[in-house]
Amino acid sequence: MHLLMGTKPGRPAMIAAETIPESGTAVPADVRTDDRLCGRLWGLGQQCLLRALVPVATALGNRHQAAFGILVYHRVTQPTAGIPVPTNNVTPHTFRRQLAGLLRRGYQAWPLRKALEYHRQGRPIPRETFVVTFDDGYASVYQHAVPILRELQIPATVFVATAYLDAEWPFPFDDWSANVRPEVHPLSWRPLSTRECAEMIADGLIDLGTHTHWHADFRGRPALLYRDLLTSLAVLRARFGVKDATFAFPFGNKERGFCAPELSAAAQGSGVLCSLTTEQELVTPQQPPFDWGRFTVTSCDTAATLVARLSGWYTLFRDLWRRLRRASPSRQGAT
Ligand SMILES: [Zn+2]
Repeated sequence: MHLLMGTKPGRPAMIAAETIPESGTAVPADVRTDDRLCGRLWGLGQQCLLRALVPVATALGNRHQAAFGILVYHRVTQPTAGIPVPTNNVTPHTFRRQLAGLLRRGYQAWPLRKALEYHRQGRPIPRETFVVTFDDGYASVYQHAVPILRELQIPATVFVATAYLDAEWPFPFDDWSANVRPEVHPLSWRPLSTRECAEMIADGLIDLGTHTHWHADFRGRPALLYRDLLTSLAVLRARFGVKDATFAFPFGNKERGFCAPELSAAAQGSGVLCSLTTEQELVTPQQPPFDWGRFTVTSCDTAATLVARLSGWYTLFRDLWRRLRRASPSRQGAT
């Protein structure tokens, strides 16, 4: 049994160094934040595509009649003057506009557990449905995002890397936070605390899921992922009473092997209800919940571009986009 079972709330969940996976917890070289010109051009091209698809989605409507979309956010933070930020830093103002805009356009937000239950029962999920998730477990979600979610009555799941609860230093897999730590407010990079998690879930609108315990590079290590998930699930159960937890893969990218079939099987064996990727695609009734994709929301997104993603037309261009990206490889930063 893991040493964390004896850890009291309010104390850092970090434990003896020998329990850290051999694969380490630093961000893998192939997903490091890329501020080079090719990376910025890739992001610009993606936004151009999305904006071009807005009138397409408006004119043609949804590409699939039985699919819904899951969104994934990371940090919801105020910018710091002079400090460059990755595109997955979304300001509270933008966050509110994105989600309120989706509601105004007739979309409805569902809890992830409700979508999973409907899928399990074979019941149709209304087409204009979206699910909100957060990866890693940043304190900024508690500080900035949750008040907006409560105001809009939008449920969400926060996937927490449980080893870092209560830590007072950046996540080791978060190269942006490590680089800017001396210059930006701790709320921009600090992991969630146990108290903040407990407050978030108190009214039932927010749910906690696991993002593994160590957020390590589990590629080719399904047994390690399995053991890690058992540890993380024990933390969620002991501290927050979470049962039958949901799960989202660290780094989440299929192309780079972060969510291969053997890893999905290991996750399923641990008892989690799902394993979500960051494949930019809708969820169809045929897809098992251990292979559900999610759309990574950026600070450049508007409600209209989110509709373009959720309409299904964006995914049509995904394979072409990947081929272009292979020709000019870039990254969006740690996820
Ligand atoms: Zn992550």
